[in-house]
Amino acid sequence: MIDELKITAYRCKKCGRIHYPFHDRCLDCLERDFEEIKPEGDAKLLAYTEIYNLPWGFDVRSLKIGVVEFSNNIKAMGQIHIDDIKKLKTGMKLKAFWEPVRKFAGEDIFGLVLK
Ligand SMILES: [Zn+2]
Repeated sequence: MIDELKITAYRCKKCGRIHYPFHDRCLDCLERDFEEIKPEGDAKLLAYTEIYNLPWGFDVRSLKIGVVEFSNNIKAMGQIHIDDIKKLKTGMKLKAFWEPVRKFAGEDIFGLVLK
């Protein structure tokens, strides 16, 4: 399941800092050489919120958004599919999927979905 996530992060070959999305130079040491890495392990919830004023293309009243950290330290933001935001707690483990998150010009746009 986790192999299907279309997420590539970039680990600085000099200091090890992980960048996602890509940066031209390392934000810590300015190195330009990166190793591509993929999310591994559990997705731990670091922060979350619910957004009500959505841009065009979302066919829902609100969205729950969260930032998770995978076991190998990659942090990523995704939609959380849960009926009630009160069930969320920071530090809890979520399952990560790569699924349609919105429509654009009639086509599905895929992104990180957490359940
Ligand atoms: Zn660096």
